[in-house]
Amino acid sequence: MKKVLKSALLMLTAGLLLFSLAFCAFAAKQDNTLHLEAKNASKGIKLSWTELEAATSYRVFRKTDGSKKYRQIGKTDKTTLTFTDKKADTESTYTYIVKAYSSGSVYKKSNSVATDFTKPTEIKKFTVNKKSISLSWQKDPKAAAYEIYRTKPDGSKLSLYKTVKAGTLKLTDKDVSTSKKYGYAIRTVNKNGKKSALPEAEYCLMMKVPKITKAENTTKGIRLTWKKTPLAESYNIYRRSADSDSFRKILNTKKLSATDTGALNAKKYVYIVRAVYNGVQSQYDKEGFTALHLSPVQDVTVEYVTKTSNHISWSPNRGATDYNVYRRAENSTEWTRIKRTSKTSFTDKNVKRGKVYAYFVRAYINTDYKSTASKTVYSVTVDPKGKMVALTYDDGPSNIITSRILDTLEKHDVKATFFVLGSRIENNSEPLKRAVSLGCEIGNHTYGHVNLPSLDKKEIEKEISTTNSLVKKYTGTVPKLARAPGGSTSEYSRKAVNMPFIYWSIDTRDWETMDKKSIVAHVKNETRDGSIILMHDIYQATAEATEVIVPWLEKEGYQLVTVSELMKYKGIELQKGVTYYNAY
Ligand code: ZN
Repeated sequence: MKKVLKSALLMLTAGLLLFSLAFCAFAAKQDNTLHLEAKNASKGIKLSWTELEAATSYRVFRKTDGSKKYRQIGKTDKTTLTFTDKKADTESTYTYIVKAYSSGSVYKKSNSVATDFTKPTEIKKFTVNKKSISLSWQKDPKAAAYEIYRTKPDGSKLSLYKTVKAGTLKLTDKDVSTSKKYGYAIRTVNKNGKKSALPEAEYCLMMKVPKITKAENTTKGIRLTWKKTPLAESYNIYRRSADSDSFRKILNTKKLSATDTGALNAKKYVYIVRAVYNGVQSQYDKEGFTALHLSPVQDVTVEYVTKTSNHISWSPNRGATDYNVYRRAENSTEWTRIKRTSKTSFTDKNVKRGKVYAYFVRAYINTDYKSTASKTVYSVTVDPKGKMVALTYDDGPSNIITSRILDTLEKHDVKATFFVLGSRIENNSEPLKRAVSLGCEIGNHTYGHVNLPSLDKKEIEKEISTTNSLVKKYTGTVPKLARAPGGSTSEYSRKAVNMPFIYWSIDTRDWETMDKKSIVAHVKNETRDGSIILMHDIYQATAEATEVIVPWLEKEGYQLVTVSELMKYKGIELQKGVTYYNAY
């Protein structure tokens, strides 16, 4: 059984072998000529040849006119039957042969083909004018003429449009209409009348070229602005780094500005914008727009170091050469540049005690580029050894009363703390925002002036968190202090609120008397260093009393600070759930 099977297999193998040998011989017989052709292509002379089944590789040889020797200029594998001689020069004649190799030795030689090369002319630039397209090209010293080919506006095949003499290097095509695309190609004609290959068309959209008018640094990156191109459906933004040649598309937008958020710090970029119409892009401004992104200065801090100086410092911005420091006194709306420095700190020796100063820093690269402004930082020039009190106002904000109180605070450049009701914020948000901008502190007085011990934990948490979010929504700051309505708390409600509780050491009883004289008298009789004074910014009398209290306190040498500042300067560390009455 085994023997029979073995001999059957043997016979089968032998048969297959014979068959394939026969087939090889047959195939070789069919392909025994290696036929070579050469023609002008866009980039050089393109050679192509017939396939030989037995060939394992091909080698291309070239002989220059006047020389006797062939030199190998290329090699291909058995499946590649073309080769473009890109080193061919215009006006030289070359003779080519191709040799087929099989197992390392020459198997067949091709016929030799002699030809010369005429290089097509590349379009250098398109200029889109109001009613025409101009194209220009580089001079070819060996050209006798140029043939300009053009497509129809629908993008059909190239056909001969005009022939111009060798001296002409520009053509203006007036036979164009707006928002159509036109393809062009140039064939070189040499002195013997030989023509180059016809290159592929390059397209130009008959549309105005958008120009970038501005590139500015923002916190997010480089913001580019350009002028509207009539008919444009959208714009493509391209970027290249200043030391590279290739543009990369980074954005497409329908707007007339865009921000490149991927720009690296201190790196120079060139931007171009191309209008898009019907899927085709316009030409672009060849110069482009050079811009550089400089990140805003980080970690700016300010410290009141002596009675007359603030120390401002910041983290270095790699790439920046200089920094400008700007200052604004709190009763002013104007920023003044007070220092230009290459260092990362500066001491402002021109400050007064009891005032608030705001600072920001901008990075520069010489005078060429500037970053956007850093975060603004404030210094409160409080003399920690001096007398201080905290005015506090509850139950607001109120568009009328709080605003009038803020007028007084602003006039004297002092601060107070407002314990606000969440329920009043939406309708009285302007004075709330203004209070924060003046450096005042906002505390949490619950949402609906509730009696905290009568609520359960969830209800208390809601009263507090709703108010905190409303304050944050309008001012960007979150209250750190709480004051219980009526001063009423319990152990578990203090835990649920989970903030330091601020009571008072002087109750002006303004809610009871609503009398200016009585309110003022309470303050004059009871105030001492570290007092927390309770008032309500919902009574006319309180606003009137404030106009007397503030100058009187200042005259007496008190610094009017927020509750947090009072506690900080008096060395009291506030803890959540704990009640504070004063800073004595
Ligand atoms: Zn209250």
